[in-house]
Amino acid sequence: MAKTALITGITGQDGYYLSRLLLEKGYRVVGLVPPNRQNSLTKLGALANQVEIYALQLTDSEALTEAVKQLQPNEIYNLAAPSFVPDSWNDPLATLDLVTGTATRLLTAVRHAGLQTRFYQASSSEMFGDVDRSPQDENTPFRPKNPYAAAKLHAHWTMVHQRERYGLFACSGILYNHESPRRPANFVTRKVSIAAASIKLGLTQVLEMGNLDAKRDWGYAGDHVEAMWRMLQADEPEEYVIGTGQLHSVRELVAAAFDCVGLDWTRYVTVNPNLLRPDEHFHLVADPSKAKRQLNWEPKVSFEQLLEKMVLKDLQRLQTGSQY
Ligand code: GDP
Repeated sequence: MAKTALITGITGQDGYYLSRLLLEKGYRVVGLVPPNRQNSLTKLGALANQVEIYALQLTDSEALTEAVKQLQPNEIYNLAAPSFVPDSWNDPLATLDLVTGTATRLLTAVRHAGLQTRFYQASSSEMFGDVDRSPQDENTPFRPKNPYAAAKLHAHWTMVHQRERYGLFACSGILYNHESPRRPANFVTRKVSIAAASIKLGLTQVLEMGNLDAKRDWGYAGDHVEAMWRMLQADEPEEYVIGTGQLHSVRELVAAAFDCVGLDWTRYVTVNPNLLRPDEHFHLVADPSKAKRQLNWEPKVSFEQLLEKMVLKDLQRLQTGSQY
């Protein structure tokens, strides 16, 4: 019989790539989506007809318990979160309720239903925050710097506690930035890929950027979701740092994106001081060697290939008017 996977945050970037992977593997995929967000299902494109949708509020404990009892999932992937970090300052309590609350409610539901469900918690490199060393691995101390990171860290520890106390098969992936043509336009990678495509087509002339020296460990979302699945197939539930292990600057990002359309970025890019954020002393960059050793996981798509995917897709979108 096909395995059932339950996914929160299915309409987000990672939800899309994970659903695609699990459908290819023959899973029955069920997404938990708030009733007022049904229109976001269009983001799943052609996959929308292949996944099942269960409408509920993730903050509703009873509804979640009922869903878990009814669906008896073999695997749960808890991806739901307001992923654009600066937004978490607007309503820290709502962030906590969604991020930490959902993890706690789902784990409690699994335990009360007496199921052997394997649980994946989407942790984030943001939890490392104000780091005092680079690269980071599973033993690096956490020093979160914003409400999003603090909520993610609380969810992470909740998962560890439930595993240790009740023996649940619960894992977490501490994921570094992961991007794709489905990344929302407020993230720097997508902002740049859209700009390179629209400048190429003569639709805009200038790209205003923040700190060009900021550096990130940017991977491809399609590679990173493969790591999530591998964690739940392992013999033991553990934490894993998932990233490429390579740092690139925003400057390199812009150069690579404009390269894809044969343009010299220096002619189009200006720095807007309002977009600057304070720079870090140590950079967030993964040491993914545990994932390689234990899960045989490695990223397949390079930085340049990632930007090529993004820019080509944005060119196509701008030319055809299609959204996804
Ligand atoms: P984050 O890692 O969650 O902060 O992801 P972002 O994609 O928002 O930002 C990545 C880095 O790019 C940050 O260090 C920003 O300071 C830097 N950056 C430079 N210019 C921009 C910009 O115009 N927009 C955004 N979002 N980030 C920028």
